[in-house]
Amino acid sequence: MLQQLTDKNRLTKAHTQAYRSSLALNRNAAGFSKEFKEGIYTLVCDKASGPYVHDLDQNKYIDLTMGFGSLLFGHNYEPIRQAIQDQLSQSWSVGPISPLAGQLSQEIVLATGVERVAFFNSGTEAVMVALRLAKAITQKKHIVFFKGSYHGTFDSLLSLKNDPHSGVAKEMVPGVTQGILNESYLLEYGSEESLEFIRKNSDHIAAVLTEPVQSRNPGLQPRAYLHELRKITEEKNIALVFDEVITGFRIGLGGSQEYFGVQADIVTYGKVIGGGLPLGLVAGKARFLDATDGGFWQYGDDSGPVVKATFVAGTFCHHPLAMASSLKVLEILRNSNGQILHDLNQTTAALCDRFQKFFDQNKYPISVHHFGSLFRFTTPGKSSLLYYQLLLNGVYVWEGRNCFLSPSHTPDVLERLEEQLIQSCYALEAQGLLKKSAP
Ligand code: PMP
Repeated sequence: MLQQLTDKNRLTKAHTQAYRSSLALNRNAAGFSKEFKEGIYTLVCDKASGPYVHDLDQNKYIDLTMGFGSLLFGHNYEPIRQAIQDQLSQSWSVGPISPLAGQLSQEIVLATGVERVAFFNSGTEAVMVALRLAKAITQKKHIVFFKGSYHGTFDSLLSLKNDPHSGVAKEMVPGVTQGILNESYLLEYGSEESLEFIRKNSDHIAAVLTEPVQSRNPGLQPRAYLHELRKITEEKNIALVFDEVITGFRIGLGGSQEYFGVQADIVTYGKVIGGGLPLGLVAGKARFLDATDGGFWQYGDDSGPVVKATFVAGTFCHHPLAMASSLKVLEILRNSNGQILHDLNQTTAALCDRFQKFFDQNKYPISVHHFGSLFRFTTPGKSSLLYYQLLLNGVYVWEGRNCFLSPSHTPDVLERLEEQLIQSCYALEAQGLLKKSAP
């Protein structure tokens, strides 16, 4: 299989090698093992449209990566491209604020029910700021986050293990030191003990941060747990922070808040809402968002900021191209009255059902779970080589393995996708890499 891939991706591999010394890119070494070394590279593509990406070798792939979930409508979606182009011909300058920022904030308030919105450039930045606001307003120091979640690359959240006695997140990667993690508790998601821990330590917990449905574990959709978290955090003056960078504007216009019927204090959004351009949002209750600017005041009287603000800033935070792209995403979603998201989520559910039936019928140990248009396979042991075989069969899934559908994945594309998944499993089985479970 690796030899076939090497033949197929000849120019991608040559390109990767040619630039390895200058281009520092961890994705080109992700999951490195000597055994599969020849398959370790990130596909290099210079064209994309609809559900497809095209690599340097002129191969066309059905893309399940969809810009890591940022391209809800598919690649190069004409209405968004047009909105960006129109804005580009008018101005892409930063400095004075673009009028689009105010307009977009109002649109987001209307779409999601939050009270205020602040703009940043990425999900990571949004999460970092959300936690800062929570600490500023509650005047407490610690944050809780959960095992299995991914919140980007803010240092205080880069840990996969805790100290089992104290719950404090443990140093894991070089450069993220224990000092930075000492105010972060990493707890089990969905467990009663974690709720008890939060209750007990509430005096110094500023925020409970959760990905309501974790992209790495979309089968866990803990409705009752989220309600319980809401109750405890409300009682104990802790900010409940929903990281909706993936679920936002995907499971529905109102995201997980609406889906689970839980109102968080602060919500972070990214990906979909940028329409493929860099954008991160911190949104939520004025009580917390007021820590950005001191809160509401008006001209012509003696009012002024009343909340002691923390510090936030960024050169590109209201970039006109991202604002224009985002406004178009919202316009399309709001005009469809939820139909686009509903249909896409249904399509994903039906596809995953068919996949799961196929795995079960063949007694393959693979499973698939979805939440909205996000889905993810669980591939134990060597069955994770499925992704290499899929690549060989013309289906692209990035190294983080979250998969996404878009409306550009039309029924004929899905039919081909299904066929390639089936053929990939058969091919893996024939190579002895996918074993049927014992009856
Ligand atoms: N939060 C979640 C839930 C995410 O999935 C991601 C990115 N995959 C982030 C935060 C970080 O976003 P970004 O990559 O834009 O920094």
